[in-house]
Amino acid sequence: MPASRSVDMLVVGAGFAGLYMVHRARGLGLDVEGVEAGAGVGGTWYWNRYPGARCDVESLEYSFSFDDDLQQEWEWTERYATQPEILRYIEHVADRFDLRRSFRFGTRVTTATWSESTSRWTVETDAGDAYDARFLVMATGCLSMPIDPQIPGLDTFAGEILYTSRWPHAEPDLVGKRVGVVGTGSSAVQSIPLIAERAAALTVFQRTPTYAVPAHNRPLDPEEQAAVKARYAELRAEARQMAIATGSRVPRIDASAMEVDDQIRHQRFEQAWEWGGLPFLGAFNDLIIDPAANETAAEFVRTKIREQVSDPEVAERLTPRQVIGCKRLCVDSGYYATFDQPHVRLVDVGATPIDAVTPTGVRLGSEDHEDIELDVLVLATGFDAMTGALDRIDIRGRDGVTLRETWAAGPKTYLGLGVHGFPNLFTVTGPGSPSVLANMVVAIEHHVDWITDTVAHLDRSGQATIEAEPEAQEQWVAYVNDVASFTLFPTCGSWYLGANVPGKPRVFMPLIGFPGYVQQVADVTADAYRGFTLA
Ligand code: FAD
Repeated sequence: MPASRSVDMLVVGAGFAGLYMVHRARGLGLDVEGVEAGAGVGGTWYWNRYPGARCDVESLEYSFSFDDDLQQEWEWTERYATQPEILRYIEHVADRFDLRRSFRFGTRVTTATWSESTSRWTVETDAGDAYDARFLVMATGCLSMPIDPQIPGLDTFAGEILYTSRWPHAEPDLVGKRVGVVGTGSSAVQSIPLIAERAAALTVFQRTPTYAVPAHNRPLDPEEQAAVKARYAELRAEARQMAIATGSRVPRIDASAMEVDDQIRHQRFEQAWEWGGLPFLGAFNDLIIDPAANETAAEFVRTKIREQVSDPEVAERLTPRQVIGCKRLCVDSGYYATFDQPHVRLVDVGATPIDAVTPTGVRLGSEDHEDIELDVLVLATGFDAMTGALDRIDIRGRDGVTLRETWAAGPKTYLGLGVHGFPNLFTVTGPGSPSVLANMVVAIEHHVDWITDTVAHLDRSGQATIEAEPEAQEQWVAYVNDVASFTLFPTCGSWYLGANVPGKPRVFMPLIGFPGYVQQVADVTADAYRGFTLA
């Protein structure tokens, strides 16, 4: 084994979470190092460079709040920033706080092993480095491990295969090409209108139709930005009071969709549609709880889809039937209208399955074959969410038990922050915390602040380790499931449930409700870290 470098804390990942963790750990005076698989900082925004990639929480809110000078200085140019702008922002943060020097880039952590005798983690990488760390912080991302779709013949394709989640740094030339896109989730919805502008022919292979609400993206008016910055602290505090990320500057009403008449309901949906984006789901307070209320919202969006697509058959295929919001709502800029263009074709692979990828394209249908010739195949096939990146590392806790075994029937954590049997290991936005249902930058800041305070507390009180207790963990997992069962979230095969990964246990992974969660974490901490053993 290589000689290991001894550190107080090792951080895996250099996205929002890893960068902020390194910054805070330095503030504690810790010797901290980071390891990142990508060649640079940015995480999600380093990897997902596909055309149209942008945030769907407004830029003024999808950004760090920990440093007032930073948030006052940075000027966003659009309501929803594009990937290049978000990446520039993260790079600016890395430089401003001199964070890059703590990271080893282009290096993947492969194993992490707890030593009972030293009470430390030994961590190895694919570059042959080894670290010996007191604390191990997994800032590995909820949506960082892409799925490799199992389509027969994929490796025989003679054209170019592009993953939205690993888009090349040199922009591929799609002009005049015959392009196929597999998938209709967020990345597909964002990229399809722009791919259609370049391609000579575009075929979209759809398994499940998607609900998308218009972004109404626009340049940010400097006066609007100044007004937000004048009361940033207040707005950030309001953002932390949102149960599910929607946006804090949104007019909202605290009423059930079922307690108003049809006309008022319709007006309210029209207003939310005009506002645009994820706040649509906040048009009433029960859209994701009551099936009847949800159906009114779903039907409103279905009508909007039909209005945007002139061919009724295509419109029908694009129209979802399931509960709206059960899968992550997409925010679009011209997605449905793209299917009105003569060179764009929608293939419903539910009705006509992909038989195989061939050297020249995609073969459809098992009996009456149809060959669709393609130069480029874009795979917008999603992520092994929330557990994927952790699952790929061989993490061994007490008695050599692996995290994979511990999570074989679904992830188990206490507060989404710690796992029994894995002392001094922290998961930033881990399963069992609001994570992907919150504005993730807000969720990340909350977790990193808690980890920082906890490490400081351990040192002040002369304790070496912190570990989740098994009963507290069991109760927490049950609680996360109970909360989900009061909503419509578990009613569809979403990635929140692991349903997009063959063989993955179906467990609802994020906790619904950010403000309540923050209070629970504060209560646990104030109650002498109830449910954790400090030793
Ligand atoms: P990431 O940014 O995913 O960074 C994790 C890093 O860890 C990656 O760079 C990865 O390479 C690295 N890593 C993983 N495993 C290893 C390993 N074994 N060794 C070394 N390095 C490793 N969230 C929102 O709240 N609002 C949005 O609008 C929004 N839009 C999104 C759009 C897209 C296209 C995607 C994919 C996600 C979006 N998200 C959004 C979620 C987004 O992932 C988070 O907001 C945020 O960027 C996560 O930051 P992170 O640091 O936790 O993880």
